[in-house]
Amino acid sequence: MSTRISRDQFGRIIEYLRISVTDRCNFRCVYCMPVHGLEWLPKGDILSYEEIAETVRQLAPMGLKRLRITGGEPTIRPELDRLIGMLRGVGAVEDIALSTNGVKLPQMAASLAAAGLDRVNVSADSLRPDRISEIARRNLGFEPLRALDAALAAGLRPVKFNVVVMRGINDDEIGDFARLTLDREVHVRFIELMPVGEMAGLTWDHVVPSPEVLDRAATAIGALSRADGPRKGNGPAEYYAAPDAAGTIGVITPMSHSYCGSCNRVRLTADGRLRTCLYGTHEVNLRDALRAGQPLAPLFDAALAGKPREHHLLRSDAGGLKALSQVGG
Ligand code: SAM
Ligand code: SF4
Repeated sequence: MSTRISRDQFGRIIEYLRISVTDRCNFRCVYCMPVHGLEWLPKGDILSYEEIAETVRQLAPMGLKRLRITGGEPTIRPELDRLIGMLRGVGAVEDIALSTNGVKLPQMAASLAAAGLDRVNVSADSLRPDRISEIARRNLGFEPLRALDAALAAGLRPVKFNVVVMRGINDDEIGDFARLTLDREVHVRFIELMPVGEMAGLTWDHVVPSPEVLDRAATAIGALSRADGPRKGNGPAEYYAAPDAAGTIGVITPMSHSYCGSCNRVRLTADGRLRTCLYGTHEVNLRDALRAGQPLAPLFDAALAGKPREHHLLRSDAGGLKALSQVGG
């Protein structure tokens, strides 16, 4: 199917759509959600799977050929495999990925892969069971390595682990995560903590800058060289690897503007708003247009025209966001 290339006002090619299917979650990660959760969206405001698929049918030919399903926690929405199947059926879509906390991956990986999912990112902030429950503030028996094995067995490659590094909380595991990459096919991406919302008392003091993370990873497993990422040109991570390692180590530095210049993405919130920057307030309501039978392409073009050049997190402006779970991270 022929697709158009869409550029924003700064000439960036926009080809990647992150789709949040729910704002709810079975975890309450300290850096993401308040312990009692947030005010959830009313069910009627949330796009049905049919509405999400129709949105993708209209926007994929505009150049949005790469999709990521996220949330909240996408695997807690029933019949996620049905949505994946519907999206797989959209001709212009080239790649479908999932971001998950991994709790349900051992049960769901095979059916998601059968429905057409290509690959998966798993949030794994610790390899220690007691610490996992402390960070997630729920004990649901999540085992990162079981989730990894299930994803690999189902062919959901490449598997990436996303680790939000917090000083004094899990930074002593940087070496353990780095060691995993030596003989396991996993791409461990260390993410700088972002100050958004309430954050359970986490402050700037808990941020561990990526250069320090890389130094500590190299201390654990030896010199690291720049490496190709598991997929080229798709995201903000810089990748490194030890010689002959099965996996890679990536760092994501949202606190600098280093990746705004090559930002290729927009976000669809669970209630159908197209958001052009994770931390910007600029968004367009696609849901009402969809429900009124209006075409989405003109709204998409209008949204891109307002996509900001960069975020303002460094001056503690998260664009009114209370949690990344509200917009799909
Ligand atoms: N529930 C899924 C998960 O945890 O992967 C998908 C949604 S979650 C909001 C997406 C990503 O955002 C996760 O990798 C999570 O670690 C990250 N995230 C959430 N809040 C963050 C924060 N304050 N700083 C850095 N990363 C954050
Ligand atoms: Fe849930 Fe993901 Fe946020 Fe953790 S990071 S509370 S798993 S949405």
